[in-house]
Amino acid sequence: MVRRFLLLSLLVLSLGCGGGGDSGTDEIPGDLTPNYASRVSLSAWFTRPVTVGFSTTGTYTEQRRNLAIANFRKWTDATNGFANFTVVPLSQNPKIVVFFKPLAEGNDPNVLGVTTITVRDGVENVRATIDISTELTQREFEATCAHEWGHAYGITEGHSDSRNDLMFAGLTDVNDPTERDANTLLLAYRDIPRSPTRTGGERTYRIITRAGECEAVGSQR
Ligand SMILES: [Zn+2]
Repeated sequence: MVRRFLLLSLLVLSLGCGGGGDSGTDEIPGDLTPNYASRVSLSAWFTRPVTVGFSTTGTYTEQRRNLAIANFRKWTDATNGFANFTVVPLSQNPKIVVFFKPLAEGNDPNVLGVTTITVRDGVENVRATIDISTELTQREFEATCAHEWGHAYGITEGHSDSRNDLMFAGLTDVNDPTERDANTLLLAYRDIPRSPTRTGGERTYRIITRAGECEAVGSQR
């Protein structure tokens, strides 16, 4: 299976010289500074484009779905097409499922979003859900979508120490991934070994974003 993936990657690389488009690219630049990788835990989806689907429960609307997609795509753009994804119906079992809710976490009005992500062998993303509160202004909603997507795509735990980055631990005026955000995410994909020891150990992280702060509240096996 691993060998097949490598072969496939080579094929994509050799065919992907045209660049652009929805197919993205597998080329990661050698120099990924500046970044804040030392402050965060990184993990990766081994198959891209990552599939994402939307639950139509809760406060789902097509407009919210489209806004979310547009903000997820900011990461694709910031990484020159690398962090790509495909939207599929829930019947196709997408790796990431997005839920819109009046409040993302119980009755806490300060919660903007919650990302729950399961990681195998400490490196490979297996599945994730993103809850986005819809009790937000449009700007807050969009910034939260973009921020949570950063967690779900590979910046699993931890945050930037700079308020100028999208992945700062709290809602700021930043709505787009910065070069530091993009470089940090790309490091997950450049440096994570693709043939981990298959111990089968899985860990689930639950990352709650509150107005003013964002924290990982424990993890469970
Ligand atoms: Zn966060």
